[in-house]
Amino acid sequence: IAALALTACGSGRDEGTSGSGSEAKGFAANSLIGVALPAKTSENWVLAGDLFTNGLKEAGFQADVQYAGASTTVADQQAQITAMVTKGAKVIVIGATDAAQLSTQVAAAHQAGAKVIAYDRLIVNTPDVDYYVAFDNFKVGQLQGQALLDGMKAKKPNGPYNIELFSGSPDDNNSKVFFDGAMDVLKPEIDKGNVVVASGQTDIKQTAIQGWKAEGAQARMDQLLTSTYGNKELDGVLSPNDTLARAIITSVKGAGKPVPVVSGQDSEVESVKSIMAGEQYMTINKDTRNLVKQTIDMVKALQAGNAPQVNDTKTYNNGVKVVDTYLLPPVAVTKANAAEAYANDPKLAPLTK
Ligand code: BGC
Repeated sequence: IAALALTACGSGRDEGTSGSGSEAKGFAANSLIGVALPAKTSENWVLAGDLFTNGLKEAGFQADVQYAGASTTVADQQAQITAMVTKGAKVIVIGATDAAQLSTQVAAAHQAGAKVIAYDRLIVNTPDVDYYVAFDNFKVGQLQGQALLDGMKAKKPNGPYNIELFSGSPDDNNSKVFFDGAMDVLKPEIDKGNVVVASGQTDIKQTAIQGWKAEGAQARMDQLLTSTYGNKELDGVLSPNDTLARAIITSVKGAGKPVPVVSGQDSEVESVKSIMAGEQYMTINKDTRNLVKQTIDMVKALQAGNAPQVNDTKTYNNGVKVVDTYLLPPVAVTKANAAEAYANDPKLAPLTK
């Protein structure tokens, strides 16, 4: 598949702070803003849709928020973006379902005079993306790798530790960035022999879960347990998000084995419950409310004819250009800091009591 050959961009570090270039004259305050989100593969996308609908309306815009369907995600999203262009959207915010399959649609958006903001996931191999807004994806991976090491050490002071590695969907540019961030922390320990990937599957192609599907992660974990952990202890699993983490835990429990230290991401309700119950070890708090707010602030700036605020102008090379980016800081959460981390989240705070 072409998507497998996709080179993820943006694992380099940069702390650039300068703003971006000039903007055109802006547009009418009640203009249409399109928001094209991927399938609801994790809770953050569900939340984002509602927040965009309400937040854009509150800011005086008309909002057209769409999700790609569960099965034909790429074609769905392409059609949705095309429709937004036709309807005259002035900004199109896109959480890409496949990073490399939107060049035609975003080119059409530009021809029609619309701005394109990549939301959470970068859009690659096209000059037609104006801004990127996301949590710091490389940092997410580093936090996951570090938590995995810390969690294993807390359970068993000395290695070597047996672990397995999972990564996200190959068509999502974030997947490689998360994985690279985690390996930035884990690789030195693997090289020292303190951490052992017992299956030998360390290449991202071997660890990827197409479509971020829970069933894919569960099936791969089932296979790994059979092939490698007949009489070996599994100490930890690098999981790139909560959906996959819970599938991995389900697999291990189904095989009658003790639950290893498992990382996650997204602070999904079921995973926060699992963390509080002592099963999943960690997750990442990427507060969707802040990411949507940052994006709507960008839209407001564009409406007024101003350059949106960015804080990174060097990291996210999409293969054609370096995209002006605003990165928010992710927070690692374990049982130890959950109450503090979710204190201002009405949905999650009660779960930590
Ligand atoms: C997002 C993650 C999410 C994953 C699956 C990624 O692009 O950054 O937060 O878990 O997609 O939906």
